[in-house]
Amino acid sequence: MEHTYDVIVIGGGAAGMTAAGKAAQEGAEVLLLEKNERLGKKLLITGRGRSNFTKAEFDPKEMAKKYGKEGAFLLSPLSVFGVQETISFFNKRGMATKIERGNRVFPKSNSSGSVLRVLLGYLKESKVEIWTDSEVRRIAVKENKISKIVLKNGQEIKAKNYILATGGKSFPGTGSTGEGYRWLESMGHKIEKLRPGLVPVKVKEAWPKRAQGLSLKNIRLDVLQNGRKQDSRFGEMIFTHFGISGPIVLDLSSKIGELLEKGEVEMVLDLKPALDIATLDKRLQSDFKKHSNKLFRNSLEDLLPQKLIPIVVEMSSINPEKKVNEITKEERQNLVKLLKGMQMKASGLLDFNSAIITQGGVSLKEIDAKTMKSKIISNLYLAGEIINLHGPTGGYNLQLCWSTGYLAGKSAAKK
Ligand SMILES: Cc1cc2nc3c(=O)[nH]c(=O)nc-3n(C[C@H](O)[C@H](O)[C@H](O)COP(=O)(O)OP(=O)(O)OC[C@H]3O[C@@H](n4cnc5c(N)ncnc54)[C@H](O)[C@@H]3O)c2cc1C
Repeated sequence: MEHTYDVIVIGGGAAGMTAAGKAAQEGAEVLLLEKNERLGKKLLITGRGRSNFTKAEFDPKEMAKKYGKEGAFLLSPLSVFGVQETISFFNKRGMATKIERGNRVFPKSNSSGSVLRVLLGYLKESKVEIWTDSEVRRIAVKENKISKIVLKNGQEIKAKNYILATGGKSFPGTGSTGEGYRWLESMGHKIEKLRPGLVPVKVKEAWPKRAQGLSLKNIRLDVLQNGRKQDSRFGEMIFTHFGISGPIVLDLSSKIGELLEKGEVEMVLDLKPALDIATLDKRLQSDFKKHSNKLFRNSLEDLLPQKLIPIVVEMSSINPEKKVNEITKEERQNLVKLLKGMQMKASGLLDFNSAIITQGGVSLKEIDAKTMKSKIISNLYLAGEIINLHGPTGGYNLQLCWSTGYLAGKSAAKK
């Protein structure tokens, strides 16, 4: 007689592993299917290999707000398995954690491998059956119920309940290639428009490319359209061969993408946001006094990183060979303005290959937030990035996987 599992979880990423472990802890017989040769490939590259696995914001309401207008959906998953529960889960299983700048939480080991080890241990202790190298090719549905799934090798398997956690379609090399969206659409689910999210920005000007590799901390980047400020972030960014990236750029990318559909997008970089115009002018006066006999092009070392100096000198229209003590007040004041307002125009966003997350996904209207159960397919539960939920950088995106994965596992295990 053919075997029927209690729960089959498709996708062995952050959400799928959490869901499988939880369902098995609840007493279900669980099979976890992953098409890669191992679990958690994407998890290992999170936080540049350090895994910023959550955000130390312990109030579910405050946390949910950070996910934008869709955030309210997360209140229920966060109140069942929120930030505190997540940190305790990892701590109890031997992973020490630390909180860094901006309340970002990391494993103390600075290694995403620690996060994965805890999850693998959880799967083992709860006796989840794991099949790697097992790509799901087809999901058969009869009368709004999944009847079986078919693997790439033709094998058919069955369960009472199914959890779909195949992730988004960004960084496809990690296994997240987006087939989950296609299956769901054919089952009658609505997929909200998919876009690359938290993605670097291409710029029209050549100068940012000349500074490639330079990382700037404590700067401000404003985004404008038709001269009106639309958004702004303070923090860290990096120049690249195509334009700009880094945490604040990734966080602004969604807004920039939206604005690009309507017209031109300007970005204004304030290199010295902590100093107002008058204070920065005083600072320049004192630097110029110190270097009064130097050439202008050699006078900005105290103020700017080496890579930016020739760029700023060029943009200032002050003769680089001019002696500092010959620079006029007007020239100096224009330089102050430049340091607080270097302009760039966005020419586009990079694509899914470089996006940290996929925006869009299964419509929240079609998922019960109390159980993560599909409202369309009676034995299907959803977890992780595949859902139309996403947050900024800082640990939000993994937290939504822990919270929705746990709740989906708990609910799908119910007899
Ligand atoms: C470079 C990078 C850095 C990041 N850093 C952070 C960070 O520091 N903090 C943070 O919060 N978020 C971070 N993120 C985002 C975070 O990694 C994702 O939000 C999260 O991994 C999504 O988890 P998931 O389980 O939903 O999907 P995934 O991790 O994508 O897992 C889905 C799994 O399903 C498998 N699968 C797909 N199709 C099939 C199929 N047909 N059959 C079988 N298996 C299948 C895939 O192989 C994959 O293993 C980062 C993302 C990237 C790309």
